[in-house]
Amino acid sequence: MHGLVTVSYLAAIVLFILALGGLSHQETARRGNYYGILGMGMALLATIIGVVTRNHWILILGMVAGGVVGLGLARKVKMTQMPELVAILHSLVGLAAVLVGFAAFLDPDASAHFEGAEKTIHDVEIYLGILIGAVTLSGSVVAFGKLSGRVGGKPLMLPARHWLNLGLLVLALWFGRMFLAQAAEGGGTGPLVLMTVIALLFGIHMVMAIGGADMPVVVSMLNSYSGWAAAATGFMLSNDLLIVVGALVGSSGAILSYIMCRAMNRKFLAVIAGGFGGGSGKGAATGVAGEAVAVSAEETANLLAAAKEVMIVPGYGMAVAQAQHVVFELVKTLRDQGVKVRFGIHPVAGRMPGHMNVLLAEAKVPYDIVFEMDEINDDFPAVDVSVVIGANDIVNPSAQEDADSPIAGMPVLEVWKGRKTIVLKRSMATGYAGVDNPLFYKENTRMLFGDARESLEGVLKSLK
Ligand code: NDP
Repeated sequence: MHGLVTVSYLAAIVLFILALGGLSHQETARRGNYYGILGMGMALLATIIGVVTRNHWILILGMVAGGVVGLGLARKVKMTQMPELVAILHSLVGLAAVLVGFAAFLDPDASAHFEGAEKTIHDVEIYLGILIGAVTLSGSVVAFGKLSGRVGGKPLMLPARHWLNLGLLVLALWFGRMFLAQAAEGGGTGPLVLMTVIALLFGIHMVMAIGGADMPVVVSMLNSYSGWAAAATGFMLSNDLLIVVGALVGSSGAILSYIMCRAMNRKFLAVIAGGFGGGSGKGAATGVAGEAVAVSAEETANLLAAAKEVMIVPGYGMAVAQAQHVVFELVKTLRDQGVKVRFGIHPVAGRMPGHMNVLLAEAKVPYDIVFEMDEINDDFPAVDVSVVIGANDIVNPSAQEDADSPIAGMPVLEVWKGRKTIVLKRSMATGYAGVDNPLFYKENTRMLFGDARESLEGVLKSLK
C-alpha cells in the first residue's frame, strides 16, 4: 500500500507542475486547471485510502461539510467578489496550519516516536508552522476586509511601525527559544500561545499598513505565505506531497509577488516590512483643478467610426458592469468597419492578478489583440481613440507627475498621449487608491458618464 501511495503522490506532483505550466498561458489555462483537478483528486484518494488509518467517518463528514459550503459559496460568489473569496480561502490555509500545529503539539501520540535532535526538529517545525499559519490567517482576513470594502483602504501608519515590526520579530524569536527549551521537558504551551498572538498581530499590522494601490502585492504575497503554511503543515505531518505542493504554491506566489512589485515599481522587502517607504505613501490625494468635458454615446460612436486605430483599456469598472461581452460586440463591429482595435492590459487592473484577462477570455476576445502594458505603452501616440472602460488608477498620470502621490512611481498606461481619450465611468469618483485623476481634465479627454455596459450598448446602437 505504501508503494501505491508514493506512486500516486508522485503522479499528483507531476500533474500539479503541469497545471502550473498550463496556467502560465491563456490558451492552455483550461487544460492546466484540469491537470490540477486530476492531481488533487488523486492526492485525496491516495491519502484517504492509503494514509488515513482510522476515523474515516470523521474525515468523510468533514469533506462533505466542507464540500457543501465550498460549492454553495462558489455558486453564489460574483465575479467581482473573487478577490475577496481568494483572500478568505488563503486565511483557511493559515488556520489549518495553526490547528494542525497545535494538534501535533498537544497530541502525545504524534511526537512520541521523536527523540533527541529529531524531537527538536519536530518542535521547530511546529513553531514555524504555527507562526507562518497565524500571519497568513490574520493577514488574509484583513486583506479580505480591505478588498470587500469592510475595512478602509487607507494605510494605517503607526508611528515607529518598523520598530514595532522588529520588536514583534525579536519577541517571536525569544519565545521560540523558550518554547524549544520547555518542549524538551514536556512543556512549552505558554510561549507557543504567546507567539501565536504575536504572529496574529503582525499579520494584522502588516496588511493594515498597505495603501490601496499596493494591495495586489499583498494579495500575491499572502498567496505565497499560504503555500509555505501548507508546506510547514506537511513537515509537521511528515507528508511529502503536502511539502512539495506547499513549496510549489509558495514559490509560484513569491514569483507572482515579484512580478507585481515590478509592475508597481515597489521594493518587495518594503512590502513585507509593512507599508512602503520611498517618496510614496503620503496618503493625500492630489487636488486636481479643471473642467471635465462630457460626451454622449452617439458622439463616441462617431469618434470611433472615424478612427483608424483604437485602444481599449479595461479596469475594475468593466468587471462591475459585466461589460466584457458588449465590449467584444463593439470590437467585432469596429473591426468589421476596418478599424484596428487592440486591448492594453495593466498588470494590476481590476482586483486580482489576471482579472481582465479572465473577463476577456470569458467573452471570447481573441488573445492576439490583447497586449500587456509593457508591449503597448509606447504605441499610444499613434492611437486615434483610447477607450478607458471603468479604469482609473491604472491610467492616472499623477503616478508620473506628482512625486507626493500615493501611487507615485507606479507605471501606468499612458493613454493621454493618444489623440483622443474617452473615459467610461459613472461619476468623477476616485479609484481604489483614492487619488484624483488629472486625466479626466485633459484637453483631449472626454467623459462618457454612466454604467459601462449601458454606455457601450448605446455606442453600439449608434454604430450599427
Ligand atoms: P480603479 O478601482 O482604480 O477604478 C475603477 C473605476 O471604475 C472607478 O473609478 C469607478 O468610477 C469605475 N466604475 C465602477 N463601476 C463602474 C460601472 N458599473 N460602470 C462604469 N465605471 C465603473 O480600477 P483600476 O482597474 O483602474 O485599478 C485597479 C486598482 O485596484 C489599483 O489601484 C490596484 O492597485 C488595485 N488592486 C488591484 C488588485 C489586483 O490584483 N489587480 C488587487 C487589489 C487592489 P465610478 O464610481 O465613477 O463609476
